[in-house]
Amino acid sequence: MLKNSTILHIGIDDTDSPKGMCTTFLSYKIVKFLEKQKTEFVDYPSLIRFNPNIPWKTRGNGAVRLTIKTRNPNKIKKEIIQFITNYSDTKNGANPGLVFFQNQSIPQSFHKFSRLALWKLISRKTAKDFISNNKIDSFYLGNGQGLVGAIGAIGYKFSDHTFELLCYRKKSQFGKKRIINKHSVKKMQSITFPETYNSFDNENDRVLITPHGPDPVFYGIRGESVKSVVLASTMVDTDEKLDGYMVFKSNQGTADHLKNELQVNDLKPYTSGFLVGKVCSKPVTEQGGHVFFSIQVGDRKIRCGVYKQTKITKIAQDLILGDKIHLGGGIRKASKNYERVLNVEFLDIIKLEKNILLTNPTCKTCNKKMKSKGNRQGFECFRCGNKSFSKSSLEIPRKIQRKLYLPAISAHRHLTRPYQRLKKRNKFEIFDTSLEWLNIF
Ligand SMILES: [Zn+2]
Repeated sequence: MLKNSTILHIGIDDTDSPKGMCTTFLSYKIVKFLEKQKTEFVDYPSLIRFNPNIPWKTRGNGAVRLTIKTRNPNKIKKEIIQFITNYSDTKNGANPGLVFFQNQSIPQSFHKFSRLALWKLISRKTAKDFISNNKIDSFYLGNGQGLVGAIGAIGYKFSDHTFELLCYRKKSQFGKKRIINKHSVKKMQSITFPETYNSFDNENDRVLITPHGPDPVFYGIRGESVKSVVLASTMVDTDEKLDGYMVFKSNQGTADHLKNELQVNDLKPYTSGFLVGKVCSKPVTEQGGHVFFSIQVGDRKIRCGVYKQTKITKIAQDLILGDKIHLGGGIRKASKNYERVLNVEFLDIIKLEKNILLTNPTCKTCNKKMKSKGNRQGFECFRCGNKSFSKSSLEIPRKIQRKLYLPAISAHRHLTRPYQRLKKRNKFEIFDTSLEWLNIF
């Protein structure tokens, strides 16, 4: 234990661009540096995913929090600012934000800010006001958009969590093709699932742990505990010499962004959340194979889109008028030709309407369909002349069930709560320093 030390929370966001860097990798570099200083980690590094439906946050909208004990916070802060300045990919559009908070307990205002950042669009002005009103120690480059995630990361309170082990490449390998033994990943998943998840897509025979961009991540393994992801990483086979790994505690796999009920009278673009309503327009398959329908919520009709890649378009197609459903997703901005649409991320069927088909009645004597005698004239059997005045109804069995439908794992987002996690909540996690959450090869 460090005597006379203070607790320092560090929030980092938006250091990367589509062309390079990665906030988790920069955090890994900072952690490697901190390990050599007289500091002590108080918790695992946290990787917090915020609202994924913000279009300019193309890489998953993740921010990092580090919490340490130090005797010399000012020196540490200066060094971290240097890291952000030297390594952020500002020339390709990164707008890094860095926030420090020096106290063990974190004020309510941070928690509130963080909760909103999970599902709303928060402007950088709001973040800058928050910083000046609360006299918070911070630093930013570019337009400072990263301050939103940096404040949010410090204020984030876990109610459930998962872990991700991120394994990084050596600098000389950045941008090169990742070569990994597919069978080893498949086998790793078969041995460790559900303690690890979304590592391999059996349906498409595809590795899911390796990203495809130029970023420094070689692979990421998600799971329920530090032990499970560390064990799983020993089963993955590659010839590439890697730099090391770090395990992050995360809100990935918790559907954190869909807990808020969307307000139908104030549906702002890029917000995430859920709605409960009744199907009020027949699903239609449009160009590209996407399915659109509307639901009625209160006195509003909301257009909803189920995209082809989710592979649940068939389910959406089988919805009928009156079905009561609970949908989660993000609001896509209206364009010139299209109104606002809820991009569906889960489809939970609460109540299925009976599918009744009305047909001409059958003659009980001849077992033949009767013929209509014209509008409101009733029906008559053309063989024996039997008459009937009403149509007969036939209940068509529904092909879909009253249950939750999720996109195929190939279309999962970082925050998607997978089936096997539906009832799972990881609550208490003691920071166990005996576990190898950081490993430099
Ligand atoms: Zn008849």
